[in-house]
Amino acid sequence: MDQEEIKLELMKFHPELNHCMHCHLCYAADWHRIDDWVPVCPTAARFGFEAFYSSGRIELARALIEETLQEASPRLLEILYTCTGCSACVEQCHQYSGLKIDQVDLFETVKAYCVSKGWGPLPKHLEFAQSITKNHNPYHEPPEDRSAWLSSEVPSEAPIVYFVGCTSSYRRQEIAQATVKVLKAAEAPFTILGSNEWCCGSPIIRTGQLDGIRDLISHNIEAIEALGAERVIFSCAGCYRAFKKDYPKFGFSLPFKIQHTTQYFLNLIRNKKLNLKPLSKAVTYHDPCHLGRHTRIYKQPRKVLKKLQVDLQEMPRTSKESFCCGAGGGVRAAYPEFAKWAATNRLNEALELNPKVLASACPFCKNNFVEAFKDFKGVSLEISDISELLAEGLNE
Ligand code: SF4
Ligand code: SF4
Repeated sequence: MDQEEIKLELMKFHPELNHCMHCHLCYAADWHRIDDWVPVCPTAARFGFEAFYSSGRIELARALIEETLQEASPRLLEILYTCTGCSACVEQCHQYSGLKIDQVDLFETVKAYCVSKGWGPLPKHLEFAQSITKNHNPYHEPPEDRSAWLSSEVPSEAPIVYFVGCTSSYRRQEIAQATVKVLKAAEAPFTILGSNEWCCGSPIIRTGQLDGIRDLISHNIEAIEALGAERVIFSCAGCYRAFKKDYPKFGFSLPFKIQHTTQYFLNLIRNKKLNLKPLSKAVTYHDPCHLGRHTRIYKQPRKVLKKLQVDLQEMPRTSKESFCCGAGGGVRAAYPEFAKWAATNRLNEALELNPKVLASACPFCKNNFVEAFKDFKGVSLEISDISELLAEGLNE
């Protein structure tokens, strides 16, 4: 997208921006339910100043649109790029105010505007964008190693394509392996793209780096079509959101159905394709922002867990009021200490329930939790993706 196109997109938000009342209700979870003032906006909780609230970023957006701000200082970029895009503020705000914009859409458009003006992104974001161009993944890993985790053959074409995603391919390969184990147990007719799978584009979309996004989307859609896919399944919540929400936004319609693996797995269980044994352990579930608030999938992961007969316990901040793990929006790359702080905050909330397992349904969440948990000495907690729990629950 060029600068003119992005400025026009940004201008569309302008008439609504005056409607923010600075009430700050976007900062906290529903106090009627929790009976306490518990933050849901990670940056407001961490940095305190209103600039780091949703309302502060709305004011910055207005100043940029009205050109009362004509350049971006390092502090302004910090305010913009610490936002994880978790959408907790949107969920809270829309319950209480008349504001009709999606703040995450606004903040992502502001980031794209800053990039188009040459003010952004941050150096770490540029690094992963360059790796996506060169290696088709943000991790600077060789594209030919994308399926190094796969230990068995898959067919060259199939009606179901498992889109593995960069994080499960290179950083949390146990999730890809567990997913394949479940698919094979169900005798699902699936294949994968291998090195023909390119990054879904989420890291560059979230950080406003939209040059080349349409080429990347075209490639992925054509590569999937070439495998004869009728359905694509995703274990990464971020990839799923990109295909579901962003690809259409950039003008692409999908010639196949898409599902997150938790949806697909639940269907497999209901159709008696999986023979499961009870896991009988205490589990709490962390809703990934991309899967919950962004694509409204709350029930299916919990239903899969219930089919495994776990003792499911909910954290106070749950479902649409889930607290972000802190990794999204390019935050983990640019602000690792803040990402770790958010994950630690969430881990402490989980540990209050004394569970055996903290489950999630996104490799990026798991990755951030696993890294943060390294500082919890002498504490026992399994951090697992639902695909891993399901693989563990297979009666073999
Ligand atoms: S809840 Fe909505 S209206 Fe109130 S401060 Fe937050 S963004 Fe503004
Ligand atoms: S998207 Fe998340 S981090 Fe960003 S302002 Fe809203 S609640 Fe805060």
